[in-house]
Amino acid sequence: MSGSIVFLGPPASGKGTQGRRLAEDLGLAYLSTGALLRREVRDGSSLGGRAKTYLDSGEYVPDEVMVPMVLEWVSRQASDWLLDGFPRTLRQAMVLDDELDVEVRAIILEVGEAELRRRVSGRLECVDCHRVAKAGEKELCVACGGRLVPREDDSVESFENRLAEYQRLVLPAIDYYRERERAVLVDGLAPPDVVYDRVLKAVAVDVVI
Ligand code: ADP
Repeated sequence: MSGSIVFLGPPASGKGTQGRRLAEDLGLAYLSTGALLRREVRDGSSLGGRAKTYLDSGEYVPDEVMVPMVLEWVSRQASDWLLDGFPRTLRQAMVLDDELDVEVRAIILEVGEAELRRRVSGRLECVDCHRVAKAGEKELCVACGGRLVPREDDSVESFENRLAEYQRLVLPAIDYYRERERAVLVDGLAPPDVVYDRVLKAVAVDVVI
């Protein structure tokens, strides 16, 4: 058993791509909190209504909304799981520890700002399965056939806000895991397969790829 994992990293660092693949290979339940929120907004739910203004501007959704939502999801999982994009604040990290019997491990993807800005321009996401499209994929998702669309929050302004929020709020959460020796830093500046190899080494598991 690999145990449950949280995946952190700045916007466009590849959390979704790497996290989803790792969850699949390790048989972990997978939740991207960002994708879940975008779906709620698209579906016009009351949660979506509360989250929309934050998502549009690139601000983080308040802990009061995020924490119960994620704890509820976690409580429904029969297996270990991987969270992509949670915790994003020190409080979220602490609550997760308080509520769980086991200690999660944190994988932190590190990518410099210039590369993040390059990646975010023009990226496409599937409206149905929320996969980020690979280079060369156009219009339809190769995994599920859904439409590929730009993310509304990938505008320059929203991206810069998310990066600022990351530095202000997520870095303290990362320090929390580092101080407890539960964080592994992974250099995310390489093609996806190379980064994935590093991720596997970080969790110290053998997966045949
Ligand atoms: P990115 O990492 O590129 O910003 P995500 O899909 O992970 O993309 O998140 C998109 C947005 O969803 C965030 O900017 C934030 O507004 C919201 N969000 C996702 N997870 C959280 C969280 N744990 N706490 C607060 N807001 C969140």
